[in-house]
Amino acid sequence: MLPFHFPTLSLTTVAALSPPAARVAVIDENVETIPRDNTHDLVGITVMTPLAPRAYELARAFRRRGTPVVLGGHHVTALPDEAAAHADAVVVGEAERVWPQVVADAAAGRLRPRYRADEWADMAAVPRPRRDLLDRKKYLFRNTIQLTRGCPFDCEFCSVTSFFGRTYRTRQLEQVIPELKAMRQDSAFAFFVDDNLFGAPRYARALFRELKPLRFKWVSHASITIAYDEAILAEAAAAGCRGLFLGFESLDRRAISAMGKRFNDTRFYEEGIRRLHDHGIGVLGSFVLGTDHDTPATFDRIRRFVDRTRLDGLFLPILTPFPGTRLWRRLHHEGRIVTEDWSRYDMEHVTFRPGRMTVADLERGFERVNGHSWSWPSLLTRLLKPRNELPFFRPNRSIQIFGPMNVGYNTAWRRWKRTRRQALHTRS
Ligand code: SF4
Repeated sequence: MLPFHFPTLSLTTVAALSPPAARVAVIDENVETIPRDNTHDLVGITVMTPLAPRAYELARAFRRRGTPVVLGGHHVTALPDEAAAHADAVVVGEAERVWPQVVADAAAGRLRPRYRADEWADMAAVPRPRRDLLDRKKYLFRNTIQLTRGCPFDCEFCSVTSFFGRTYRTRQLEQVIPELKAMRQDSAFAFFVDDNLFGAPRYARALFRELKPLRFKWVSHASITIAYDEAILAEAAAAGCRGLFLGFESLDRRAISAMGKRFNDTRFYEEGIRRLHDHGIGVLGSFVLGTDHDTPATFDRIRRFVDRTRLDGLFLPILTPFPGTRLWRRLHHEGRIVTEDWSRYDMEHVTFRPGRMTVADLERGFERVNGHSWSWPSLLTRLLKPRNELPFFRPNRSIQIFGPMNVGYNTAWRRWKRTRRQALHTRS
């Protein structure tokens, strides 16, 4: 249901790891059509779980035309045997340490079936992505950059730790700042795609000092714990931070505890959001729907919270047990996975038996809470209702980013509803 697409960093990074003599093209099927010729010596496809059926279909098509195919990414790392059935080779783990070898082996005609990165990538060796290979005009938000990898936490449903391990690694600022300066020439907006930009506060502070003169307006991810430290919020805001994606996940402390996210104190949520707003930082809040403590009453609680705290942006997905995560292993063990049709692992379909409601309850609740949150009344309340009950319009300075985002989601949600209705109509 995403209204916008972001320029890929995974494939542009892999492209940068290829030998300089290799001629490389990056195709993002979200915004362009895959050419149907067979002039390539090697095709690499990165695979996320909901796109696995499409990736396998493409792999089959290229292989039929005689082009060897290599698959990698989160889904392949979690299920390498499954992916290997659709490819000439699979890459397990991060590509940095193995991709040059893959290309050399492919050139010599002796691809091995499996390449495994046995060590984490050395962050100093992570190259600058080949952004020049993308048609950047096709993206609304063009500047994406990754400064860190991993997260110090290990939430049960999250695939970050299952892919990157419980590591938190940072790129050197000497590398990052010139990259940012080059991007600044293109646009003043930036998205730091890091899973938790504030995972190492000293690094974050040093980054903010360097960022300030570049005058970016940027967004990133963090945990609500960042709002305990008002000084770092002020430094982030002064460095151009306009919004943070925060995983609240649930308003129920038992659910938070069960998913291994005890650092999220539900009693601090409202105060934390208020502090971020006071610093001019918008909050994109995420709740996962369908934890074992959720009931049909949960959705209205979240809906009220969203409006009351005036969250600037929302992400309200159905809890999804992605392969490789602890949640996936537990639900398998409990016999509660109801489908392994990966196309349904898009966080908009129910793929497991919920604990305290039916599958239909969860589907209805997902539609109700999203339908409300992307409606015009909620959108206007959240973005425009004056803070501190001042009787005039006083938008947060983050509205430049969250205004278009909400309008885009409003349209995308109505389109999603139409498509869902048509699919139900066709089935019946
Ligand atoms: S959900 Fe967020 S805090 Fe938890 S492991 Fe994933 S990235 Fe880290």
